[in-house]
Amino acid sequence: MIQAIKAKIIVTPGHAPIKDSAVIVKNNIIEKIIPSTELKNNYYQIIDLKNSVVLPGFINSHIHLELHWVQKLLEPFKSFPSWLNQIIKLKKNFNNSKIPYWVNKSLNECINSGVTTIGEISSYDGLDYKPILDKKIRAVYFYELTNSTLKNIENKFFQSLIRNKTNPLINFRIFPHSIYSLDTKSLKRILAFAKKHNIKLGMHLSESIDEVKYSKRKRNNFEKEVFPKTSYKPTIETKPTTPLEYLDTLNRNRQHITLIHMNNLSQNDFKILTKKEYPVIICPRSNLYLNQKLPNIKFFMNYMKTGLGTDGLSSNLSINFLDEINFLYLNAKKIINNPEEKILSIATIGGAKALGIDNEVGTIEKGKKADIIAFDLLNKNPYLSIIHSKKRNLKMSMINGKIIKLR
Ligand SMILES: [Zn+2]
Repeated sequence: MIQAIKAKIIVTPGHAPIKDSAVIVKNNIIEKIIPSTELKNNYYQIIDLKNSVVLPGFINSHIHLELHWVQKLLEPFKSFPSWLNQIIKLKKNFNNSKIPYWVNKSLNECINSGVTTIGEISSYDGLDYKPILDKKIRAVYFYELTNSTLKNIENKFFQSLIRNKTNPLINFRIFPHSIYSLDTKSLKRILAFAKKHNIKLGMHLSESIDEVKYSKRKRNNFEKEVFPKTSYKPTIETKPTTPLEYLDTLNRNRQHITLIHMNNLSQNDFKILTKKEYPVIICPRSNLYLNQKLPNIKFFMNYMKTGLGTDGLSSNLSINFLDEINFLYLNAKKIINNPEEKILSIATIGGAKALGIDNEVGTIEKGKKADIIAFDLLNKNPYLSIIHSKKRNLKMSMINGKIIKLR
């Protein structure tokens, strides 16, 4: 079946807007973009989106679908460690059988805001897996490991993920949670395991000022408030450094590690990033929610591998991706040139690069998987139109050549 997605304007990163054209999709692959005047009714199944802007599907590069329920139970907190203590306590007392229900709720919110790929952090040994498959959304699936769950590597579910590379919508990754939840030994073991099985990784890094202090062996609230309650203090076996310097020292084989947050960096950290080109995902609203500073917007808007994430509802006011785009736009406006275009890049191809799937998705061009969305055209500038969009303006969403939403 050959589909033609016809619209007033098509935008894709690295290309000028294309007027009155159609994206031709054969099975699940983008074939070309042609002028609408060349469309033949008997040859294509035409989906006429009329006065819309068509763009690559959004990539919400960092989310915890499973933690939707936390928002209702969270009490006000003063610091990152005190928030973490609440999360640990809440998770302990929660009935896990309800997790798939909340995952489903999160997924609906993602899809309704134009997201076609998620960078999901899975913390409940696969309770999110079936709802993700059922929704037919594309996922980079990060299996989270901490000191206390490291043995999950031997679990049936984990093993099945390593073996099963047949689901075209799922990309499997390993996610060592953070430097403050894993010993140096454990981290090394995870890196070696990932290398052996040729699996890419991801990790929260430099998210809080306490994490930086912890890694530099300065007084910090993890050691004061969190570790005494978990009766476990991870051991760092290197000299005091920043979190990135620490991880980079361990990453001798230059493995692909997607770094999440990166909002507390030193000058040398920026040098390391530029030199080693680590992929990064920023979650600006989550940083403010957790009483932290924003990432360096100017640097990351111009960095080659920056993606954008909402993080979970455990650390944000919403997981509506359009809200995150709006927020980034307002913060970037004064600092960089062409913020409208740059935001589109970060929300699509930037996320794909950060997640290591840019050969598959992130742009509308020949050979890529057909992950395509459309919004009502609300402004004569198509980029600004996307930024002005609300969920109700989503006109179509297609994932892997299948329309999952059409209005
Ligand atoms: Zn996270």
